[in-house]
Amino acid sequence: MDHHAVTIVGGGNAGISLAARLLREGVDDVALVEPRTTHHYRPLLNYVGAGLAPMSAVERPTRSLVPDGCTLVPDHVVSVDPGASDGPTVTTAGGRTLSTSTLVLCPGLDEDWDATPGLARAYDEGWAASTFVGESASRVWPALRDLTAGRVLFTVPPEPAPCGPTALKPLLMACDHWRRRGVLDRLDVVLVLPYATALAVPVPDRRVEEALTSYGVRVLREASVTELGDRAVTVTTPTGTEVVDDLAFAHVVPHYRAPRWIEDAGLAGTTAAGLADVDLHTMRHRRHPAVWALGDCADLRTRPSGGALRDQVSVLAAHLTAAPGTPEARLPRYDGYTVMPITLDRRRLMLVEIDRDGRPSPSVPFVDLTRPRRTTWLADRYGLPQTYFRRILRGKV
Ligand SMILES: Cc1cc2nc3c(=O)[nH]c(=O)nc-3n(C[C@H](O)[C@H](O)[C@H](O)COP(=O)(O)OP(=O)(O)OC[C@H]3O[C@@H](n4cnc5c(N)ncnc54)[C@H](O)[C@@H]3O)c2cc1C
Repeated sequence: MDHHAVTIVGGGNAGISLAARLLREGVDDVALVEPRTTHHYRPLLNYVGAGLAPMSAVERPTRSLVPDGCTLVPDHVVSVDPGASDGPTVTTAGGRTLSTSTLVLCPGLDEDWDATPGLARAYDEGWAASTFVGESASRVWPALRDLTAGRVLFTVPPEPAPCGPTALKPLLMACDHWRRRGVLDRLDVVLVLPYATALAVPVPDRRVEEALTSYGVRVLREASVTELGDRAVTVTTPTGTEVVDDLAFAHVVPHYRAPRWIEDAGLAGTTAAGLADVDLHTMRHRRHPAVWALGDCADLRTRPSGGALRDQVSVLAAHLTAAPGTPEARLPRYDGYTVMPITLDRRRLMLVEIDRDGRPSPSVPFVDLTRPRRTTWLADRYGLPQTYFRRILRGKV
């Protein structure tokens, strides 16, 4: 059985960034288990869905991003034994078992297709797709671009979801496109929101609501899609059930849950989505001290996002590389910082940054980034992807 000092499960945003950071800080035996040969910079998928980025800008070969010195295990973890006598072990679909001194889980969230009957079929039939499902993202803009009349439905997924509120981006950028083309008035645009307001953060909420009103979007609040079929979507709201039918297109994002093997290993807490049960500030598992989790799969009581990972990776790396015996009080803690970048149209973006309690947590002093700006849009579309591939995934941020 192979043994590694640190084994990271999942080579997405969290896993690659953490591996790079640990290697930079002198940990010399890091293994990364990741089955996908192509890595996605997922925030750009929303621009693909608005016809403002090609898929080629999103994708890179996984191998080209794995840091030098890291052992890549190109396989899928199917089970974990957190309490094995020589340290945790993971078993892969290919039949390998790896033992490790420190296990870090960051496999992200799984799409829960069973949670919404008819959704997978609607995707197969082609009248539903979303930027959140990588393989379908390139179908979104061709479906929206040429609409001149009819009904379209969008959803924001309930939490946990990978930066769920950014599902507003393809909606708001499409509305701006339709308005510029002079067809918006002939379209019936419906939005299904899981909560009472778009973001549940007062000032930015007001700006999003103003945009939705100006585009004439009909919003179903505290609502959830319960079924799809025959170009119709059944939505449950606090006042009953509504069937939105005759749809030209439905941008329905699947619900999400943590991979089942986290729960099967006894590593989940009390969330219905089976998220890994870790300390909110250190990301160490509450019952298995050799196991840690970060990113979308971890129950950190904040909204998952790539932006949140910058702090999570730095805090976790500090804990894993601390000299033995360092008092925990001397180590950094994660305060739940997360981000929601929302495009109000095809030119301007507002960046909403909050902590675990929903309080503003701006990363830049004296500039109100929640005010929609052209510069912030350009940074999100063009600047951040460069920073992601050149610095974040190299453990430099
Ligand atoms: C459409 C979209 C837009 C977004 N926009 C933004 C944005 O604008 N700003 C922002 O901050 N965040 C955004 N996000 C969220 C951000 O992409 C995620 O929060 C981030 O990718 C989470 O990183 P992660 O490493 O936890 O999970 P992921 O990036 O999902 O990576 C998980 C990795 O684990 C691997 N894996 C899964 N199961 C296993 C297994 N069993 N064994 C081994 N490996 C496994 C997967 O193949 C994957 O590579 C967006 C997400 C989406 C989908």
